Amino acid sequence: MAKFIFITGGVSSSLGKGLACAALGALLQARGLKVRLRKLDPYLNVDPGTMNPYQHGEVFVTSDGAEADLDLGHYERFTNQDATKSDSVTSGKIYSAVIAKERRGDYLGATIQVIPHITDEIKAFILNDSDSSDVILCEVGGTVGDIEALPFLEAIRQLRNELDRDSSLLIHLTLVPYLAAAGELKTKPTQHSVQALQTLGLRPDILLCRSEHEIPDDAKRKLALFCNVAFENVVRANDAKSIYEIPLTYHQEGLDDAVAKAFDIKTAPNLKPWQELITKLHNPKKKVRIGIVGKYIQLKDAYKSLDQAITHAGIAEQTDIEKIWIDGEDKDLMSKIQQVDGLIIPGGFGERGIEGKIRTIHYARQNKKPLLGICLGMQLSVIEGVRTELGIKDASSTEFGPTNTPVVARMTEWMSGEQKERRGISDDMGGTMRLGSFPCVIDKDSLAYKLYGATQINERHRHRYEVNLGYREALESKGYVFSGISPDGLLPEIIEYKPHPFFIACQFHPELVSRPFNPHPLFTGLVRACLAA
Ligand code: GLN
Repeated sequence: MAKFIFITGGVSSSLGKGLACAALGALLQARGLKVRLRKLDPYLNVDPGTMNPYQHGEVFVTSDGAEADLDLGHYERFTNQDATKSDSVTSGKIYSAVIAKERRGDYLGATIQVIPHITDEIKAFILNDSDSSDVILCEVGGTVGDIEALPFLEAIRQLRNELDRDSSLLIHLTLVPYLAAAGELKTKPTQHSVQALQTLGLRPDILLCRSEHEIPDDAKRKLALFCNVAFENVVRANDAKSIYEIPLTYHQEGLDDAVAKAFDIKTAPNLKPWQELITKLHNPKKKVRIGIVGKYIQLKDAYKSLDQAITHAGIAEQTDIEKIWIDGEDKDLMSKIQQVDGLIIPGGFGERGIEGKIRTIHYARQNKKPLLGICLGMQLSVIEGVRTELGIKDASSTEFGPTNTPVVARMTEWMSGEQKERRGISDDMGGTMRLGSFPCVIDKDSLAYKLYGATQINERHRHRYEVNLGYREALESKGYVFSGISPDGLLPEIIEYKPHPFFIACQFHPELVSRPFNPHPLFTGLVRACLAA
């Protein structure tokens, strides 16, 4: 039977609960344990798929097609293993499932209530498919005290009672602020936050205290005393220069030792791979500047995986990468893109900023500047090619309004495994895109093949529109190559422009599968092309 670690947050949001969960997962993995990480989000959306990136940051996509919280991206990157649909849930999903069961008559005439029906559904989610893991880490989104989180915390309270005594832990991530005027660290917010937990019947076993300063032993003793935890289980979480240092810093502070003691885990962690990664990260030999021309650039969380994928490529190539985030509508766009060594056009939705991105693609193609286009970036690359090379000036995507030349159009049918997926124009917006991992066949005579070293790949998708293959022949006569195609030959996946050292665009999102210990070839290729330019 798996052991369970529940991670809650107190005092303030944005303390890095997702990263804490991911880093602890990595530390337990380093002790040879099989871990699984899960996220319970209290908001009422069924998933974050319909949310604006400014509300919720990036929408992460799992290989089995779930639109999930960006913390799942951290989990995957830190543990180097794929998350699934059953690792992410929201109140919206829980309530929908319960209401659907009620409509079906599954509850045999009972009155449906938060306790037990909602809490049972939450417990079933937590316990589902847990037998093959040694430890399941469950992060509860939000902050203790949020109304929406109450059913989740109640479910955890019940579960901790039902599980064997030594098989669950509760870690509370909290903030210990430094008050400059008083010249000391303050423990009171943490005390109050733990009190709030205790009124719900939950007692933390470990306090993970985010603090910019060293926490002296007397402050730790005070926290232990007032919050009912063992002194050695008050662990400082300090700020790290890179998120990939967190497993090592938590280890130094004793977090995984506290967990190992509680669960009677005897193996010592092997942290050598992490140490080597950090040494590489901090000792770059070269430097490049990569410009990312996007739409949601004010909020870095909107491009979390992309940001990380570039970092991974930098580590792999021992190159310090300065990322320049540029708004597609920036009035200095042209001068900004001239100053970088390479460009990325990331995924995106809607019309705003697209003409700036098309101008960027045009500039990169004409001036042989390395360019990687992703999803919307590939669609715009084809539009730019059709406009410039085929002279069709109004070439566009039906996503941006009516057009006589729909180079990119809404997809209505595609294969998912053996099944044909169909979509109508008036279908729901939520969960109806082409989502998850799909195969792609790569042409041997291509840059893509040089980068991947394979003719058959799988990559993750999240899009509603698709490049129209009708323009393929005309574009290929102008130097383009459609080097990656779906196995049925119907959906273009990768395009390249041959008379260019590195002009490649893909319909999928390579950034979602890039990992620190397994960087993605499209990003390492881009960095190498920038270095060679
Ligand atoms: N908006 C485009 C589509 O839906 C691209 C999506 C994306 O970049 N993820 O197809």
